[in-house]
Amino acid sequence: MIRFVDVSLAYPNGTVALRNIDLAIDKGEFVFLVGPSGMGKSSLLKLVYREERPSRGQVLVAGRDVSRLSRKQVPALRRSVGVIFQDFRLLPQRTVSENVGFALDVIGCPKREKHRRVPRALDLVGLSHKADAYPDELSGGEQQRVSIARALVNNPPILLADEPTGNLDPETSWTIMQLLAKINVKGTTVVVATHDRDVVDRMSRRVVTLDQGSIKDDRERGAYDA
Ligand code: ADP
Repeated sequence: MIRFVDVSLAYPNGTVALRNIDLAIDKGEFVFLVGPSGMGKSSLLKLVYREERPSRGQVLVAGRDVSRLSRKQVPALRRSVGVIFQDFRLLPQRTVSENVGFALDVIGCPKREKHRRVPRALDLVGLSHKADAYPDELSGGEQQRVSIARALVNNPPILLADEPTGNLDPETSWTIMQLLAKINVKGTTVVVATHDRDVVDRMSRRVVTLDQGSIKDDRERGAYDA
């Protein structure tokens, strides 16, 4: 589903964020990407949704080389990759429903379809009762659930999470991880970049450890050992 073939990424200022990454993530996998801050986790995710392009090597998503996509093809890639972030990135002036529906407006989804999909996405994350609330009326965990609903409303085969629990207390972090696990069970490939040691150790999933932009370790049901 996601493949990196000898990928390196240097930013314009010369910082080498990733070096010679070879990585294959299969359809339906749940993978943690771990390592201290600055080790290249976000950069690796950005290559998957083509926020960045590799300086060398190939990044393949669903069999397509993402650096070769034309500008016109990028939106289709982005629809197949849902992304959530530490800071939720919700629109403060829009309700929960509107925030989730916005992802559909952008792609010109017909209204009737939108009225079907938004409630389904909110139901998936357990927030149907907050559909008309505004983000600042919600807890951090609830806001992250809204951002998950927004990421999934297009039904993408891949969900990327960049430090999704970075702003949440341990208990809430755990419920968010359980939600990501539930989404994974339904068939979505999930990649979570985190330095939340407790969550990684409790979940017992594949753990890919980055160190200074290189893969230091990759093991099934691993522990956080960065
Ligand atoms: P992590 O997600 O593990 O914290 P990042 O991928 O954000 O790591 O960063 C990896 C390295 O790349 C760091 O040294 C960081 O400072 C650098 N970096 C990240 N984004 C940029 C950028 N846009 N320009 C220059 N350097 C960057």
